[in-house]
Amino acid sequence: MVDEADGQDAGSEASGACVDPAAVALALGGASRTEADGFLKKQAALIDDQRHHLREQFKQLRLNIWQQRMGVLLRAATAVGLGISGALGVMVWGAAHAQGLVIERPVIAILQFKPGNARSIRRNSGMKLKSCFKGGVAAAFIVCGAAGAALAQGPIPINDPPAPASVPGHLAKAAQIAGKNSFASLLAYEGLWCMGPTENREAVFALADANYAMPPEKWFDNLYFIGKPFVGAYILKTSAGLVMWDTLDNPKEAETMLLPGMKQLGLDPKDIKLIILTHGHFDHFGGAKYMQDTYHTPVAESQVDWDLMAAYKADGSDAHPYPPTKDRVLADGEDVKVGDATIHIVLTPGHSPGTVSSIVPVKDNGKTIMMAMWGGTAYPGTKAALDQMGDSMDKFKAAVAKYNAVGFLNTHPRAFYLRERLAAHDPKAPNPLVIGNADMQASVGVMRECLDNMKDWYGAMGKN
Ligand SMILES: [Zn+2]
Repeated sequence: MVDEADGQDAGSEASGACVDPAAVALALGGASRTEADGFLKKQAALIDDQRHHLREQFKQLRLNIWQQRMGVLLRAATAVGLGISGALGVMVWGAAHAQGLVIERPVIAILQFKPGNARSIRRNSGMKLKSCFKGGVAAAFIVCGAAGAALAQGPIPINDPPAPASVPGHLAKAAQIAGKNSFASLLAYEGLWCMGPTENREAVFALADANYAMPPEKWFDNLYFIGKPFVGAYILKTSAGLVMWDTLDNPKEAETMLLPGMKQLGLDPKDIKLIILTHGHFDHFGGAKYMQDTYHTPVAESQVDWDLMAAYKADGSDAHPYPPTKDRVLADGEDVKVGDATIHIVLTPGHSPGTVSSIVPVKDNGKTIMMAMWGGTAYPGTKAALDQMGDSMDKFKAAVAKYNAVGFLNTHPRAFYLRERLAAHDPKAPNPLVIGNADMQASVGVMRECLDNMKDWYGAMGKN
């Protein structure tokens, strides 16, 4: 097992990445030192590129958040302005009445005109000075109330408390853990894991445009991603059929995204031997029952999250889909064998009480490498669950070391900028998701430090 600090001494000057070229040479199937150096150099350039790309994205994200804040301020100002002008209007109107001027008379006369009723119009529109103020105040309340209600429909403003004093220390520690490891540095300096609570959630979830269908994608020789930029399903092709992780939000998405995506990729849903659910939240299990009902696909999940799904208040709507029925329970440390693939199961509770992470063998240009699928994404709502997630990160890091995992996967791909990194990818260059084991361990170490940082934020927010 490589300690985080070890990451710093083995780095090659040329690549700027802190990976041992000898280890890379071995990982490349016995390549020469020069080849390994070349590989590292290319990958460092690629990562620099990605980092630039991500920095731009973050700039945009921050800009969006500021625009939201400004939008809220602007609307609040408009509401107050409308209230004041409404009040002034009523007061002017009332004052005019007190002076015996019925300034709206022409309008009333037009609306109520009948030959001979001019006198009753005059009587009905009379008003005393005192009531004009009452009317003004009432108008201000009504206009401000209506504008306030309209405001409440808008985006939620950022309302994090001031950052706890310990935050800079955590960020410095995260950077130290990252060392010269490129992806770990990216997570430490720019990643969503170390952001404050609201920005973190924005970065994982609130990209409003991320919830649309996208063309299915092939990420490795035998690994596919189908769904939406926000959340999706992975399919691994083995010698004995397919394994699927997660199933999108609901039966409708399974039918209209998952199946057409598979067809487009030339994959037959009847060949799915097992569905592994990363956890018991509906955006992961939503399409599972459909697959069970339609193709009799067996579904696997940890016992704790089977219980979580059983307690889920489903009504069969798209927003509250029925969970699947229990086919198989996944145990911690279990090896799931399908054809030539052995998937190592690591239970990593925290995001949900029984989150399932997987170490997945994928083929990258014909060579089998291990990818680590972190099962849960967003930080949980309580400090206790956050503690549990921290322990799970330590456990995940040990599994990453044990099985020599060289890259992240996640069914919310934004958590590790997976699609962004692939998009910046030259198809002839090595797969940018492969970052090497030292960088993986450093990255999980960074995540752990970021989690401790978030724990302090929770403290500042009074969350327990
Ligand atoms: Zn979830």
